Amino acid sequence: MPFREICGQERAVGVLRRAWAGGRLAQAYCFTGPPSVGKRTTAVALAQAVNCLSPVPGDAGSLTPDACGTCRACTRIAAGQHPDVGLVAPEEKTVITIDQIRALAARASLRAYEGSVKVWILDPAHEMQEPAANAFLKTLEEPAAGTLFVLVTTAFSALLPTIRSRCQEVRFAVLGEAPLRTILERHGWRAEDAAAAAAMAGGRAERALALEPDRLGAAPVRLAEEVWGSLGSLPALLDQAERLGKDRAALESALEILSAFARDAVVARFASEEAPGLSAERRALVERTVGDTTLAAILRVHAAHREARQALAWRAQPRLAAERMLLKMREAVWHE
Ligand SMILES: [Zn+2]
Repeated sequence: MPFREICGQERAVGVLRRAWAGGRLAQAYCFTGPPSVGKRTTAVALAQAVNCLSPVPGDAGSLTPDACGTCRACTRIAAGQHPDVGLVAPEEKTVITIDQIRALAARASLRAYEGSVKVWILDPAHEMQEPAANAFLKTLEEPAAGTLFVLVTTAFSALLPTIRSRCQEVRFAVLGEAPLRTILERHGWRAEDAAAAAAMAGGRAERALALEPDRLGAAPVRLAEEVWGSLGSLPALLDQAERLGKDRAALESALEILSAFARDAVVARFASEEAPGLSAERRALVERTVGDTTLAAILRVHAAHREARQALAWRAQPRLAAERMLLKMREAVWHE
């Protein structure tokens, strides 16, 4: 996806576009910021920009050029099939291994096969074990001409200081509701579902996408209210358990919504007036729903969501996991 289609990261994208247009790109960048806000997407956009066969002039809002998004280079990069653009990510293991870095180093020392600039994206860069990080440092110290590295991380401080000092940091922000809505609508969501999910996603695209109404079997708008409302009556609670636990995907989506709701309830308890990421409407809904539930009880509710998530990870039956979670919520809210 070219730069112009990236939502909600104007500052980071602006830094890169200006550097590219001015021929001032750094040899290595480190994209830092919260998870799921567009860091890797932007790294791919940068790879497209520097390798595009027919860049397009910038639109009125931005005078710098951009990748076309449709030429052979752009489409191959988007598909992960361009020989000069590589992604290094953990494979079976949860870390980037020294073998992966050695393979990168060998390919990085070759002349660019067909693009003008080789681009290596390491994501998540902090998942390099020490031997891998040291091997990568060597590559970074003696880079072949025409090579660009992009390290993507949520934990900049976890990188070796010697690697950090060789990268230019570009910070990415939490996504606002408007860019999240745009992203969801691009995925084919109806406007009202997109608006509701954007409000409870905590600024992360992945979390918002997990709230998909089709997976949930219901619109996400009222789910948390309905679940909290059912806690007072055992038959209503069991009905809820059946609905939430109808399958894994449904319960996973519901857990996203309920966790976000509990998180917002905690924030509403702490922050007296304006809290970042909590709109006045959302706050009113949260306060109306949780009533005078104490902070301690809300935290126990939040823990019940976390346990349900763990149970799912351990392959628990969704219906039982949902029931257990709702009973714990009931106990926290009604019997403190
Ligand atoms: Zn292109």
